[in-house]
Formats: sequence, structure tokens, C-alpha cells
Amino acid sequence: MDESAKLIVRAPNQATDKQIQKFVTEKESWINKKQQLMADRLAEYESHLSLQQCLYLGKLYPLKLVLGRVDTISFNGSNFIVRYSDEDKIKLTLNCWYKQRFSEIAKPRVNYYAKKYNLKINRVRIKAQKTLWGSCSSSNNINLNYQLIMAPIEVIDYVIAHELVHTLHKNHSPSFWQEVSSIMPKYKASKNWLKENGYKLRYLS
Ligand SMILES: [Zn+2]
Repeated sequence: MDESAKLIVRAPNQATDKQIQKFVTEKESWINKKQQLMADRLAEYESHLSLQQCLYLGKLYPLKLVLGRVDTISFNGSNFIVRYSDEDKIKLTLNCWYKQRFSEIAKPRVNYYAKKYNLKINRVRIKAQKTLWGSCSSSNNINLNYQLIMAPIEVIDYVIAHELVHTLHKNHSPSFWQEVSSIMPKYKASKNWLKENGYKLRYLS
């Protein structure tokens, strides 16, 4: 079986087609399993190769990978260049950049909305969260998932508004949603965007 998961049977020259067919039939389940394994690996490899574009603020930008001695990233507004010393470091480099950019973009916006709507917050933390886009603790500490950097800015604003309103309502009651709507009248579009596209923001995790 080669890399493309094709079956190659090496048989002695005197083996008849019938003998080969019998051998293949006997080994069918084993072969199917192996072929599935190869197919899975291939899919994984392809998904690795698909690291040719970067999602940033809701838009896809071309990503150029350059093998070198250092691990750096640059973005000029129209494309990303990642220089990498080791393939395993590409995602790490991208994630560091995403986290940094999200922090720079989101923190001032949290402060802006908190001040504008007179909402008292404690600490704001940017981190990777497996299942949440954001959270607000009982002591009004706000956590935001940096993977939101891949979402459009209005979606980031919606998550910020959502968590800020939790400083007033620790639930999702009608009054909670009414408050969210007063800050962000078109919040439903962002909520739906996350529902439909959220998985895309996880591709580097
Ligand atoms: Zn909530």
C-alpha cells in the first residue's frame, strides 16, 4: 500500500489471477481498515497543507510560508508571511500573533463600552477557551477567547457587549437580551454568525 492508499499486491510470478483475487478477498477487511487509516492521514495532511490562508477579522488573507532560521510573522494588510524554522512552529507563531492582536483590539473596546454604558468591570483576561467565546464571573472578571480575532469586528463587539451585560444580569433572561439589544441593536446577526462560522475560528487550536 503506497502513500495514496492504493493497494499494491506483490505476488510471485507463477501466482494466478484467481489466487491473487482469493488473497485480496481474505485480506479485504484488513485492507479496508488500512485504506481508511491512509485516507484519514491524507485528510489530515491536506488540512495541514490548507494552511495557505489566514482568517483575520472575518476575512481570509493569503499566507506565505518561508522556511528559514527564525520564527516570525508579518502582516502588511493584504497578506501574511510566516517565516518558520520548523513546521511544528507555524501554528504557534500564528497563535501568538492572533493573541497579541486580539488583546490590542479587544481591551480598548471593552473599556470603551464599559465606560459608555457605565458598567463596572474588574479584570479583563484574554485567553484560549475550548468551548466559550467569553465569560463573566460573579466578581465581574471578564474572559475573552482570543480566537475571536478571526471573526468580524461586529462579532467581537457583540461578545464584548454580551459579557458586559452579564455584569448586570447573571443570566440570559429577556431583560438581559433587551440590554444587549440596546447596546448592539443588530446583535442577532453576530450571534448567528458565531453559530454558523464559529468552528472556523478553532482551526488553529
Ligand atoms: Zn452569556
